[in-house]
Amino acid sequence: MSFADLGLSDELLRAVNDAGYSEPTPIQKQAIPSVLMGRDLIGIAQTGTGKTAAFVLPMIDILGEGRTRALMPRSLILEPTRELAAQVAENFDKYGVNHKLSMALLIGGVQMGDQVKALQSGVDVLIATPGRLMDLFQRGKILLTGCNLLVIDEADRMLDMGFIPDIEEICTKLPKQRQTLLFSATMPPVIKKLADKFLDNPKQIEVARPASTNINITQRLVEVKSGAFEKRKALRQLLGQEDVATAIIFSNRKTTVRELNKSLKKHGFRSGEIHGDMEQPARLAELDKFKKGDINILVASDVAARGLDIKGVSHVFNFDAPWHPDDYVHRIGRTGRGGATGTAYTLVAPEDAENIAEIEKLTGMKIERIKLSGDAATSDGKSRDEAPKRARGRGKPAKPAADAAPAADAPEEQEQRPARQARAPREERPARAPRPERDARPPRNDVREEPRRQRQDDDGPDDGWNGPVPDFLNFTLG
Ligand code: AMP
Repeated sequence: MSFADLGLSDELLRAVNDAGYSEPTPIQKQAIPSVLMGRDLIGIAQTGTGKTAAFVLPMIDILGEGRTRALMPRSLILEPTRELAAQVAENFDKYGVNHKLSMALLIGGVQMGDQVKALQSGVDVLIATPGRLMDLFQRGKILLTGCNLLVIDEADRMLDMGFIPDIEEICTKLPKQRQTLLFSATMPPVIKKLADKFLDNPKQIEVARPASTNINITQRLVEVKSGAFEKRKALRQLLGQEDVATAIIFSNRKTTVRELNKSLKKHGFRSGEIHGDMEQPARLAELDKFKKGDINILVASDVAARGLDIKGVSHVFNFDAPWHPDDYVHRIGRTGRGGATGTAYTLVAPEDAENIAEIEKLTGMKIERIKLSGDAATSDGKSRDEAPKRARGRGKPAKPAADAAPAADAPEEQEQRPARQARAPREERPARAPRPERDARPPRNDVREEPRRQRQDDDGPDDGWNGPVPDFLNFTLG
């Protein structure tokens, strides 16, 4: 089946062709004709399956007919995070090149004045995070009574972040007669309830088993000894021997992200970092550097794990096994996107064993274990192989290996807590607790999640933004 068989307009087919897509993905095949027919839809699909185009493409054709009206957006897409909202906006730009549709992005951390101005003249598509949208509502700056098409994207992530009450409220502000599309990687009971309440006889599509991993990704567990020092050493060895074009290295803690990035830089790698403690402009700038190739390694916390669509990530490294097994699926899903192949390595020290067991239980597969040869494997603490032997392509270290004296790691190692202590006991771990961006609201009623644990220390798992919104977040996107 080709894109031409799906009922899309010639203008869209040109845009799709220009995007380089030869064939629709399974979710696109199943969703696009139904959406064009005006049906409600539940799409159970992960990022990486082409789900964004599955709703953006038919929306462009639907909205291509009709006129914009001041203050009243004609369609609304709800996204859990600013990064995802910005990504969907990029998709609209890309696929909508041959249409004249207006779009506004309404996300936290961006000055509201400019966003309100865009809305006043009327938009065809409003892409918003729920918190910011509710803010505008309460100020009477927006009307959703002309909004006949609603997309709730990443619904399970919305649940994680405590957004479901907001979404319920937003749904009641839209006309009853409308088309609603809901996408979610999984279908927990709360999301099912939401769908039952707000969708009308939806077509249900499931393109991948929830929490299944992509077959294009080669996965390996790398056995290492305990401790951050050993892991850093093993990681450098892997980076040196693998054909790394671009890599995202995930870690459970912000402190580890920072320290690992510092250590990698010291060893001559072109790395950067992204985690929830960073200012929004700094996060975007770091992502931009990664996308442009100014750096080729991004050390990240799970805040960055979901949904980010960065082309050509050849490798994902898990510096530690994630506490929540579904985070593993999301992490490794940053590689092997759009049909490409990718490689995911997870460093496994004895303290990771429990988390690995949960991952294997969730994905229903046993991941192959490998051992590294040489010093990183023997772990005598006197590695001669501190710097990458070679990193090809954009992975070339910026500094020569001579920088990497074995002793260089020692002071860092002293600062680093032993891994066993660093890992919170199970009951203290954030149980899929809200990881809100700054405008997340506390959950309520039947969808109440475990309250987000207040962490005073800097060493907590990365839940996104901690505490109230600092002033620095008020900036304007260019
Ligand atoms: P998504 O699941 O929406 O995050 O999309 C994942 C990636 O697949 C994005 O980089 C899209 O540009 C790409 N993509 C979407 N549709 C197709 C297609 N039909 N063929 C190839 N790549 C696609």
